[in-house]
Amino acid sequence: MIDILLSAIFPPKCPYCKTILSYGMSECAVCREQFPDYPRTEHIPSGEMCVSPFTYDSRVRQAIIDYKFHGRKFNSESFAKILAHTVDGVYGDADFETVTSVPLSKARQNERGYNQSELIAVKTAKILGKRYERLLVKTKNNREQHGLNAEERIKNVVGVYSVTNRQKIIGKSILIVDDVITTGYTLSECCCTLKKGGAAKVLCAAVAAGGQSHLENKL
Ligand SMILES: [Zn+2]
Repeated sequence: MIDILLSAIFPPKCPYCKTILSYGMSECAVCREQFPDYPRTEHIPSGEMCVSPFTYDSRVRQAIIDYKFHGRKFNSESFAKILAHTVDGVYGDADFETVTSVPLSKARQNERGYNQSELIAVKTAKILGKRYERLLVKTKNNREQHGLNAEERIKNVVGVYSVTNRQKIIGKSILIVDDVITTGYTLSECCCTLKKGGAAKVLCAAVAAGGQSHLENKL
């Protein structure tokens, strides 16, 4: 009821074109029509596969920037729906039991109030009927990946994550979610940390892939 009232006072807007949406919609029909037919799939440096429904450019790029920096949390509804659809289509239903996300450092999370990847991951897990767990923590404040060359980027993320609870990781197949993948070094380090912690298998998914690299670091 409160949701309905709030949406009447502050109607949600399409993340991609800003059209006012009816209650219950996460994006407008015109934009949904233009969603790519096939997801992008790639192997990240650690060898795991990553799927992404979108390419990180034009309206999708702006929708993610609005989500991360301009408080448009509502955009996560559309991101999670399309991500869940992509994960279901590419990985199938039985390939993982737990969903987690790339963590932010404590300082960054306190500053922003939430972890944008986690919000998408929680909603994606719910749509897929899977459990969401915080399996990783960021224990070191590294430099931003932006502005670093490839070699520096690799070194910059090594050893910055730790597992929270090995019992929830050992022998498990895990899906890890991020918002944007560019070089894949951040996701690779997360995968390596989970595998060192005993994970049997790790799969990756990001809302968008490629494009400019300045958002890859957990801003
Ligand atoms: Zn639209």
